[in-house]
Amino acid sequence: MGSQRSLLKSLTAGVAGKKHYCKGNKRHVLLKGDRILVIKIERDSFHYCLDCGLKFIATARKDLAALETDLLATP
Ligand SMILES: [Zn+2]
Repeated sequence: MGSQRSLLKSLTAGVAGKKHYCKGNKRHVLLKGDRILVIKIERDSFHYCLDCGLKFIATARKDLAALETDLLATP
């Protein structure tokens, strides 16, 4: 891997092990077996439903594209 770092190391796709609630919205129910987005921050991990997870990914894509544009811009 050398000095390349993953920006997305803290994000993984997971499966809900039991019924609980989406961290993004308490009205989003995660049922056992549902696909979830897991975000690990230090020792905590937060679970998000598929809808919220896909929104995060869409936002991150735009942010990354903007970052790439900035990096490549001629000063
Ligand atoms: Zn949600």
